Amino acid sequence: MSVPAPGALASRLELSASAFRANVAAFRAVAGPQRRVGAVLKGNAYGHGFAEVLPLAHAAADALYVITPNEGLAIRAFEADQAASRRDVLVIGAVTPGELVELSAADVDVVVADRTLEAAVPLLRQRKLRARVHVHLDTGLGREGFTLKQLEAGEVDVLAQARDVVELKGLLSHFANTEDVTEQSYATAQLQAFSSAVAALARRVPIAADVQRHFAASAAALVLPPSRFDVVRVGIGLYGLWPSTETRLSAKVVLGELPALTPVLSWRCPSQVVKWLPAGSFVGYGCTWRCGADTRVAVLPVGYWDGYPRLASGKAHVLVNGRRCPVLGRVMMNHLIIDVTHAVADERPLVATLLGRDGDESLSAETLAGWAQTIHYELVTRLGAHLPRRVVD
Ligand SMILES: *Cc1c(COP(=O)(O)O)cnc(C)c1O
Repeated sequence: MSVPAPGALASRLELSASAFRANVAAFRAVAGPQRRVGAVLKGNAYGHGFAEVLPLAHAAADALYVITPNEGLAIRAFEADQAASRRDVLVIGAVTPGELVELSAADVDVVVADRTLEAAVPLLRQRKLRARVHVHLDTGLGREGFTLKQLEAGEVDVLAQARDVVELKGLLSHFANTEDVTEQSYATAQLQAFSSAVAALARRVPIAADVQRHFAASAAALVLPPSRFDVVRVGIGLYGLWPSTETRLSAKVVLGELPALTPVLSWRCPSQVVKWLPAGSFVGYGCTWRCGADTRVAVLPVGYWDGYPRLASGKAHVLVNGRRCPVLGRVMMNHLIIDVTHAVADERPLVATLLGRDGDESLSAETLAGWAQTIHYELVTRLGAHLPRRVVD
């Protein structure tokens, strides 16, 4: 059984379809008309919600990238259900030989980064299926992918030996250090390693002219033109978030003008209680906050279970009626208490914005992540899968 749905007063996520489309368009403009833009939907679509983002990404992007086999199969089920045309779908995460076969049966591409393919070949022959594979080359991240040594030792020769059941569709790699820097020397070395690896592979395996090369995630797509190859694999940027401040600075230099990225997500929460606490009252677990004056507080039924980081205690604010309202005391599992003394005029129910725009103020995922000493990638992917999500235009 899955987690029972929250009640009507739960906090909720709003996704802007127009912002998503505009972000895809921004990456199309950066990549140029001859390149394809692929959308990365891993991590529950960066916490935004796989089911809600899929229709948007399917309509706007040329290819879809996921981590798990089930996500790949869910995309095929969505297409069948909607009578939609098939997009290129690539599972970039780990698969077993059995999963590789099931994905091949569904025309989902898989990444080969180890000997899984070899083990799957007899099964593919038995079932008369063809696997569509992208070979991951480790050019310096030290994560999945074949090293040059492994290529030279023949670990990918199965591609040449099993051409009856394996089609080589792509060659890819992934950068280690494009987001956190404003100079790209390590990335440039990785590009060189990529061309050496492709050359080494070509000596052992035929590589057709139409085999796609893809390397760039959001940051490289923006700031490192030689990394764009045939397709860019864009995650964070499509959700309207810059990979980092450094990427924004570099993009200004490289592109001249900054592409407009618009956050897709807003997180709002109705109040559970609004009331006055007299001066001297303590607020929350550990009695870490004490009201210096009579304080009108709102209790919000949202907490770290929902993905609001406890480490933001003592630093965070939320927005009510376009005003900043400090979070008082500790973030709890299911509650936040905020100071609304000046943001409202009475004790009627209110709605607080935890992320997104409210009036003239807005609160970014970067800001909330910073309060919690983490990055916005982690913050958004940890937003509870149980939260209600609604797509607005
Ligand atoms: C996560 C990921 C991406 C997307 O990265 P962003 O920085 O979110 O754009 C692209 N490629 C691979 C292999 C990834 O793991």
